[in-house]
Amino acid sequence: MDKATKPAARAAGQTMDLSDLLEHALKDMYYAEKKIYKSLPKMIKAANDPALQEGLSAHRDETAQQIEILEEIFTTLGKRAKAEKCDAIDGILEESTSLLDDFKGSAALDAAIIFSAQAVEHYEITRYGSMQTYAQVLGMSEVADMLGQILKQELAADKTLTSLAKGRVNAAAA
Ligand code: FE
Ligand code: ZN
Ligand code: FE
Repeated sequence: MDKATKPAARAAGQTMDLSDLLEHALKDMYYAEKKIYKSLPKMIKAANDPALQEGLSAHRDETAQQIEILEEIFTTLGKRAKAEKCDAIDGILEESTSLLDDFKGSAALDAAIIFSAQAVEHYEITRYGSMQTYAQVLGMSEVADMLGQILKQELAADKTLTSLAKGRVNAAAA
């Protein structure tokens, strides 16, 4: 009953710390990056703008590197690389799939692809940003640097998408 289970649950919760949160986040991102890597070809194929196709392809190559960097981080922490289902990225990618269907053949398809891709990048930016600060406060400077390396790529990918949208994609869709 309550009296027997609650204090135990609370005690278990109390043993969780920032390094557990970092580990959870690593598993989330290992799951997310693999899933993003698998989803990108569909977006690349659907895109009409050659610069958008190229930008997404380049970021897919970076995503493959990021998966390797995450594996290195697990190794550095003495853990086996393990993915954990993350509902957040699943939701973003599910929406992306239905938008590709809804806007198929329309003038706004590329805009919809960028709309979805930027949701992915912003999700990654928030996660890697948090994780980098955790690694820093935990004194794991090597891990913080590796996370910072990924974060830089995500920020650059987001910036590229913004300039494509502002440059011609949004106007072409309007
Ligand atoms: Fe990524
Ligand atoms: Zn999570
Ligand atoms: Fe990304």
